[in-house]
Amino acid sequence: MSNNRIPYGRQDINEDDIAAVVAALKSDFLTQGPEVPRFEQAVSQYCGAAHAVAVNSATSALHIACLALGLKAGDLLWTTPITFVASANCARYCGADVDFVDIDPVTSNLSPAALSKKLETAKKAGRLPKILVAVHLSGEPCDMQKLAALCAEYDVKIIEDASHAIGGRYGAGSIGNCAHSAITIFSFHPVKIVTSAEGGMAVTNDLELAEAMRLLRSHGITRDPAKMLNVPHGPWYYEQLILGFNYRMTDIQAALGTSQMTRLDQFMRRRHELADRYDELLADFPVVTPHRNKENYSGLHLYVIRVPDRAGKPGRDDVFARLQAAGIGVNLHYMPVHLQPYYRDHGQGNKSFPEAEAYYREAITLPLYPGLSDADQDRVVAALDAALA
Ligand SMILES: *Cc1c(COP(=O)(O)O)cnc(C)c1O
Repeated sequence: MSNNRIPYGRQDINEDDIAAVVAALKSDFLTQGPEVPRFEQAVSQYCGAAHAVAVNSATSALHIACLALGLKAGDLLWTTPITFVASANCARYCGADVDFVDIDPVTSNLSPAALSKKLETAKKAGRLPKILVAVHLSGEPCDMQKLAALCAEYDVKIIEDASHAIGGRYGAGSIGNCAHSAITIFSFHPVKIVTSAEGGMAVTNDLELAEAMRLLRSHGITRDPAKMLNVPHGPWYYEQLILGFNYRMTDIQAALGTSQMTRLDQFMRRRHELADRYDELLADFPVVTPHRNKENYSGLHLYVIRVPDRAGKPGRDDVFARLQAAGIGVNLHYMPVHLQPYYRDHGQGNKSFPEAEAYYREAITLPLYPGLSDADQDRVVAALDAALA
C-alpha cells in the first residue's frame, strides 16, 4: 500500500454493510419501506433528538429546514464564510439573501464576538437575519451557548450544520440533540463520518417542524386523513397541501446508513487516536495544529493545519503542491464562500472577512479517516516535514 496515493478522506465499508444493502435489494421495498424509519430511529436515538427526517442529501436537509422555519424571499440568512457552499445556498433556494459572519481565528468557527457586533448593527439598520446556520467546522463544536444566547436576544433561529460532526459532543450533550438550535442537519456523503452513499438527515425536538419537513420531503403530499382539507374520496385518496419536492432517501441507502451507525463510536475512537497522533508528531513543526476544546468531543471529520508564512521558506502553496506530488491527497476546506463568483454577484462583491481570508491563505487538510494506518500517517508526516524544509 505504501506507494499508493493516500486520500484526505475515505469511507469504511465492511461485510455487514454489504449484507445490509443486499438484504434491502432482496426485500419488497427499494424505497419507502421500513429501512428509512429504522435509520431515522438509529440517528435520533444516538443523538437524543425527538424526531428525524431522512432525505437524499444534507443539501436537501438544509433546504427543507429553511422552509420549515419560514425562510422566504426578502429574508436574510447568515452563516460562516468557511464552509461548504451548501450552508449558504439553502437560503438562495428560498429566495432569501445570504450574508456572512467572520470566523474566530483560534477555533475557525463562526465568531460569537463578530456575531454580537453584526447583530447590533443589523438591528439598527432594520435588517436582522431570520436564520443563522452554525457550522461545526471539521467537527469542532461551535460555542453554541453564546450563539444561542445572542440569537434568542434578536429572535434568530439556529440551524446547526453538523455535516462534519455526527458522533461529536458539545459539553455532555451529543451533537444533534438540538439543545441550542431549532434543527440540526447531517450529511452521509461517503467522505463524511458515516455514509449512506448519498444522504442527509434533519433532526429536531419540535414535532411541527418535523412534520413540515416530512411533507416537504415528499411533494407536499399527505395520506393522513387527519391532515386533509377534504373528506377522502376513497381509499386511493391523498392530498397535496403545499409545494414539496422529491427529496426521499431510498431503503438501500438507509440500510447502509443504519449498518454504519453501529460502528460510529468505533470510527470516532480511531479518528481521535489519529488526531492525537498528528498533534504529537507535528508538535515541533512550524505549523498550527487544529484547536480542540477539551470540554467538547470533536466529530473530527477533518484535520486542518495552518502553515503560516516564513520568510525564505516554502509557503502554503508550495507545501500543498509538494504534498500532492508525494502522493498525499491533501485538500483545502474551504475557499471562503463570499469569494465564490456566484456570491460576488449576489451581495458579496465588496465584502471582506479578514480572519476567513487569513485562514484560507494558510489552511491544508491532511488525510484523516478510520482506515488510515499508523504507517500511512507516518508517511504523511514525513512528506510534510520534507515539504516544509
Ligand atoms: C458535505 C457538506 C454539506 C452537503 O452535504 P451533501 O450531503 O453532500 O449535500 C453541507 N454542509 C457542509 C458543511 C458539508 O461539509
